[in-house]
Amino acid sequence: MDLETLREKALSCQGCPLRRHARQVVFGEGNPRADLMLVGEGPGAQEDEAGRPFVGPAGQLLDRILAAAGLQRAELYITNIVKCRPPGNRQPLPAEVQACRPILEAQIKLIQPRIIVCLGAVAMRALIAPGASITRLRGQWITRDGIRYLLTFHPAALLRDASKKRPVWEDFKSLRQVYRSEQVEQLSMEFPDKYLGGVNRGSAGLTRLGPR
Ligand code: SF4
Repeated sequence: MDLETLREKALSCQGCPLRRHARQVVFGEGNPRADLMLVGEGPGAQEDEAGRPFVGPAGQLLDRILAAAGLQRAELYITNIVKCRPPGNRQPLPAEVQACRPILEAQIKLIQPRIIVCLGAVAMRALIAPGASITRLRGQWITRDGIRYLLTFHPAALLRDASKKRPVWEDFKSLRQVYRSEQVEQLSMEFPDKYLGGVNRGSAGLTRLGPR
């Protein structure tokens, strides 16, 4: 199955009660071959309206953070743990997260990102650490099944609490460093050394700079 086929299947999903309240399924968008995937919690009102992830105030803040970190949204893939808006923007229930999990797992399998950023506690608990506190684990890098996960706050949390902006900025600086190092490392594997010269040799040093 390719990503477009998966999207078409997801758009007609009735796998949990969230679909009854939502206008549409917000599948996710971005580069289908992205090395970097961002995973949030679930669509909000604007996302439900537009059918696109992270287009409301939290999404606009995320765009500004990405731009400040020198990352283009078009080079990433962005999605959520649940693809349908929970009523009143409540957190998705564990059963809803579980029902929607196969779609996210299929997205990850098809896109094969090298890095996944968990935006907020719901994403972190679903993907990495059930029951853990995002406040305690924020800023951590965890490698699982060959993918490096960065845990950070959801941008909506920054809109409610400005004191979270500084630690999130530190997380995105760390992300930029590791992501660019991964790109250099990948480039050095894809092209013969004679074409890259010093860049190829330098990639090893760059890779070591990233947190593990
Ligand atoms: S939230 Fe996920 S599982 Fe539930 S109906 Fe929407 S797409 Fe299907």
